[in-house]
Amino acid sequence: MATDYYETLGVRRDATPEEIKKAFRRLARELHPDVNPDPKTQDRFKEINNAYEVLSDPQKRQMYDLGGDPLSSGGGGGGGFGQAGFGFSDIMDAFFGQASQRGPRSRTRRGQDAMIRIEVALEEAAFGTTRDIQVDTAVTCNTCNGEGAAPGTTAQTCDMCRGRGEVSQVTKSFLGQVMTSRPCPQCQGFGTVVPHPCAECAGDGRIRARRTLTVKIPAGVDSGTRIQLAGEGEVGPGGGPAGDLYVEIVEVPHNTFQRRGDDLHCTVTIPMTAASLGTKVPLQTLDGIEEIDIRPGTQSGQSIPLHGRGITHLRGGGRGDLVVHVEVQTPNKLDPEQEELIKRLAKLRGEERPSGQFTPGQQGLFSRLKDAFNGR
Ligand SMILES: [Zn+2]
Ligand SMILES: [Zn+2]
Repeated sequence: MATDYYETLGVRRDATPEEIKKAFRRLARELHPDVNPDPKTQDRFKEINNAYEVLSDPQKRQMYDLGGDPLSSGGGGGGGFGQAGFGFSDIMDAFFGQASQRGPRSRTRRGQDAMIRIEVALEEAAFGTTRDIQVDTAVTCNTCNGEGAAPGTTAQTCDMCRGRGEVSQVTKSFLGQVMTSRPCPQCQGFGTVVPHPCAECAGDGRIRARRTLTVKIPAGVDSGTRIQLAGEGEVGPGGGPAGDLYVEIVEVPHNTFQRRGDDLHCTVTIPMTAASLGTKVPLQTLDGIEEIDIRPGTQSGQSIPLHGRGITHLRGGGRGDLVVHVEVQTPNKLDPEQEELIKRLAKLRGEERPSGQFTPGQQGLFSRLKDAFNGR
């Protein structure tokens, strides 16, 4: 009774060599005796091996297609099991895919990076400062110096894998010897075992600790600026090198100034009379009190720039500007005498029945925006 090799592998008669190989690999993974020791399955495994031996070889496949059976006497040079004609590497490939990386893995690894956020005031961002910060981190265990072994003891070569970190198992099958490798269960692939772990760190080589660090915050930082402190993160397991610590700046909003880039903006509200007659108003700037000179006839929406009174540029030095925006308050809740005075003023200025001046758009708002864009 002739077997249908195509049916055995579940491929069409015109299947490409690639399709045949794929079908075989899939079945071999499913039916390999190591995976599935059931006798029926093993018979089936033999069948797919036979089928693949024939269909993967162009000559044997042709012979089979013409009605012969290359595996019975007279065909294919009498090859039997154990000297299968197809490459043994096909089977290995089916199981292990790409060659895995060899050798024991190191107990020593780099520590993780850490991040901490700190709040800074606008003045600190403007001129820079230093800060002591506390970080909870992992530091090298002093008891074992990061090695993880109790004092007086050392890690020893694993006797199960002889330090290789992996163990191999040779299985005899009708195909010959099949060797499988897996990480050593005794040492978890490290190649060494620690018979007496350090009691202080439970063998990790590091302990949790709170450290105080002095951080230099340069002038010009802004919310979101990150300062990298190389090697100030957590130390790694097994005494591995420390990761980095990132300090992220969060700027606290200021009572008077709004920051836009390196410029500062604020608004001063003055009565109409002061705007008309002119005045000086004191302003607490980052550099101390300054008299803001309101010129006679100042309009609402005008801005007064104080050059170089803003935030220090983070790169390149120099400073942004401080821009004071003027808002003129119209007097209301007039008593009879005030009303009389303003009426008199209107009469003197010929403004009793003003026609108003109409222009397109929102003049006041527009000029204010323009000022902001021009950095005035
Ligand atoms: Zn320790
Ligand atoms: Zn081992």
